[in-house]
Amino acid sequence: MINDATPPLKAAIVPVTPLQQNCTLIWCTRTMKGAFVDAGGDLERLKAAAAQHGVTIEKLLVTHGHIDHCGGTGILAEQLGVPIEGPHPDDRFWIARLDDDGRNYGIEGRAFEPDRWLDDGDKVTVGDLELDVIHCPGHTPGHVVFHHAPSKLALVGDVLFQGSIGRTDFPKGNHADLIASITGKLWPLGGATAFVPGHGPMSTFAHERASNPFVADRVIAA
Ligand SMILES: [Zn+2]
Ligand SMILES: [Zn+2]
Repeated sequence: MINDATPPLKAAIVPVTPLQQNCTLIWCTRTMKGAFVDAGGDLERLKAAAAQHGVTIEKLLVTHGHIDHCGGTGILAEQLGVPIEGPHPDDRFWIARLDDDGRNYGIEGRAFEPDRWLDDGDKVTVGDLELDVIHCPGHTPGHVVFHHAPSKLALVGDVLFQGSIGRTDFPKGNHADLIASITGKLWPLGGATAFVPGHGPMSTFAHERASNPFVADRVIAA
């Protein structure tokens, strides 16, 4: 019996690919419709997770075009007959090389064309849920973050990690852009916001502002 004590959004993290990327199943508890954020690979495990939670997948969301985050997305979308939303079109060049990158990383990768490219300020829906899209370039130029304000939850991909930040030594990576994305776009969401990073354990923005060696307040101020 659903009552007011049931949170509107639930999430389950399923690490996938040899790079242990945190694919996240998010779902609307009222409709039991859900989405995978960054279905990078291990598609049978992902489908099993959705079945285990009784969730019907209605779309696939993508934070950025790296192989561990979306190598399997085009394949899964075809299998499930669902659309792909994201990332920002500036990651088009990464998605175009998923087949080659897959061969190099030992991950099944396939280039795809999203049904919807995303931009800063867009909204995406999952069941009755509405998440904000925040364009956070730096790790890749077209990286987006998904934020569900009522749950104080953000899915940040490879922008920010517990105790670290995303690499910026890839093509079109930009360190200054990344720092600006984190401090100018993520911090204003509030310190109590919990985030799922692309790899490793969850954290909160307050924790990172206090202790992250790259973007803590005292590091930025120095
Ligand atoms: Zn990445
Ligand atoms: Zn990654």
